[in-house]
Amino acid sequence: MIPLSSPDINEDDIRLVNDVLRSGYLASGPMTEQFEKEFAERFGARHAVAVSSGTAALHLAIIAAGVSDGDFVITSPYSFVASANAILYERGIPVFIDIDPETLTIDPGKTIEALRDLAQRRSGWRTLLPRSARDSSGVLRAVLPVHLFGRTAEIREVMDAAREEGIAVIEDACEAIGASSDGVYAGRWGDAAAFGFYPNKQITTGEGGMLLTDRDGWADLFACLRNQGRSRHNEKLRYERLGFNYRIDEMSAALGLAQFRRLDALLLKRKRVADRYTALLSAVDGVTPLPDAPAGRTRTWFLYTIRLAPEIDRDAVMDGLAARGIMTRPYFWPIHLQPFYAERYGFVENDFPAAEAAGRTMLALPMSPNLSDSEIEYVCAAVAEQVSAYAA
Ligand SMILES: *Cc1c(COP(=O)(O)O)cnc(C)c1O
Repeated sequence: MIPLSSPDINEDDIRLVNDVLRSGYLASGPMTEQFEKEFAERFGARHAVAVSSGTAALHLAIIAAGVSDGDFVITSPYSFVASANAILYERGIPVFIDIDPETLTIDPGKTIEALRDLAQRRSGWRTLLPRSARDSSGVLRAVLPVHLFGRTAEIREVMDAAREEGIAVIEDACEAIGASSDGVYAGRWGDAAAFGFYPNKQITTGEGGMLLTDRDGWADLFACLRNQGRSRHNEKLRYERLGFNYRIDEMSAALGLAQFRRLDALLLKRKRVADRYTALLSAVDGVTPLPDAPAGRTRTWFLYTIRLAPEIDRDAVMDGLAARGIMTRPYFWPIHLQPFYAERYGFVENDFPAAEAAGRTMLALPMSPNLSDSEIEYVCAAVAEQVSAYAA
């Protein structure tokens, strides 16, 4: 069986995790601090705060943006469900804006329109809200763009509009560590950015995440909220806020640090796999590989996703590949049509056509840094064989 992903773990990774186990410091120790320090330095940020998952990172950023009962956050419906869930944790309301069908990330023009409509309450602004939340008394607190599949969302102009309107921007960079646009790294535009280190991501800690911010107050708040609401250096055990246990443990931080130190090498390994896939699949009728980033942008490969022609039965292709020992997944089914969201907010089909079209046609193939040439060839041959049944 070729799994959808498997991490690259080397002897240095294992040694650093072993050092932690031998040290007796299993939580809240020096590995976490070192991981944060090197992460912030590499991306030129004032602060990095490590947490227990990418979802936890998003949740804390939502709190920092002041999201509370009925407040609005603009985001993409074509993402992993966590990016919208984080809004709901604080009883905020997700305002989905459809994606650009080419980049698969939030459409910047529509996002800016919605941002101004909601911030200035221009006529018709309530129609942007989900059907069952149109009487909400909240206000727009944040825009949460998602850098999807290792590619930065086009948010330069969105940032300008958000600054003008005084709205916070939280970047979901969980899938795009190291990706850049005109020399700016994913996670360096907004007020804060969330990174995730689940084992299928470009670097892993097992479970873990990181917040990046230049705002001193937000960094202090993140450190406080991840530790049950106790501020940094408060040894007297006074809890000033309602916090969480969102700490990362030292074994995870050590693994993350070791992986992060070879980020460039890990990204190159993924690029080799992606380039090989693209070379082999470009010639297959009915298959469109995810393009590499255009000039001035870099994509850091996360999943390797392909777009199937609309007439191809994607689920049948998945079954056929599974029968040949190849694991694939339909990334992503749009968030607004997930049963929980559709029921709670009254979303229906055709609300966000571009996200839905992507949801019906995108397929993630196995993507691991150490996938061999023969495995890639085997997958591509199987994809071509499955798809040819539907070719005109
Ligand atoms: C992975 C991911 C997250 C966070 O995931 P965790 O499993 O909580 O670390 C958030 N958003 C997106 C888009 C992701 O892909």
